[in-house]
Amino acid sequence: MGRVSLRNVRKSFGTVDVIKGIDLDVYDGEFLVFVGPSGCGKSTMLRMIAGLEGIDSGDLLIDGQRANDIHPADRGAAMVFQNYALYPHMTVAENMGFALKMAGVGRKERDEQVRRAADVLRIADLLGRMPKELSGGQRQRVAIGRAIVRKPRVFLFDEPLSNLDAALRVNMRIELSRLHRELGTTMIYVTHDQVEAMTMGTRIAVFNQGRIEQLGAPLSLYNAPANEFVAAFLGAPR
Ligand code: ADP
Ligand code: MG
Repeated sequence: MGRVSLRNVRKSFGTVDVIKGIDLDVYDGEFLVFVGPSGCGKSTMLRMIAGLEGIDSGDLLIDGQRANDIHPADRGAAMVFQNYALYPHMTVAENMGFALKMAGVGRKERDEQVRRAADVLRIADLLGRMPKELSGGQRQRVAIGRAIVRKPRVFLFDEPLSNLDAALRVNMRIELSRLHRELGTTMIYVTHDQVEAMTMGTRIAVFNQGRIEQLGAPLSLYNAPANEFVAAFLGAPR
């Protein structure tokens, strides 16, 4: 559970074609990285999969089911944003359990889910804190925790580490890779950072101006870039 397929997906904003007919099969349990320069359509792709943006034409399938018109909350896809705004007046535990509360899940079950997610993220000791008492890295963990408690089939990450300092970023890369191994959930991860892409992805999709230039394992892209754009972007020898 956690396959995502796109069939000739297109999206325009006004007269600008932002996504120009994308076909893609995301495997169950893989860590797929979307990489590419600013403005190439990475966030738009992720937002369409999450349901935060409509699809103009083409099909989105999640586990084989057409999902174009399924409500975002019911798609089984949970998004983790770059600007992880937490609810400032709620504790960490309340932040993490909020979506479950809105979904009508009872207190006991909520606490259980939150505790389990906090253990995985190693923030169990922070559950009683307020967001303003947390460091950037801790806040990012809480934001991921909010997604985990929803038990998504697919995690969608939009440059989740770009607001963190360099040392913490390296640390969180390792933690996210560990999280992926432990949960085994499909993850689609957007970044414009080549190092992040090369070190974290089971596969990488290189985007350029609304199209995928190349899709493959990090080493195969590095060793055999399909064209000048991919080669230049990954910094691989030509
Ligand atoms: P990336 O995440 O790769 O930097 P985006 O998906 O955010 O790229 O944006 C792709 C293009 O679509 C950009 O040219 C951007 O200006 C445009 N765009 C994104 N969202 C909107 C929107 N809501 N309205 C108009 N243009 C948009
Ligand atoms: Mg973006």
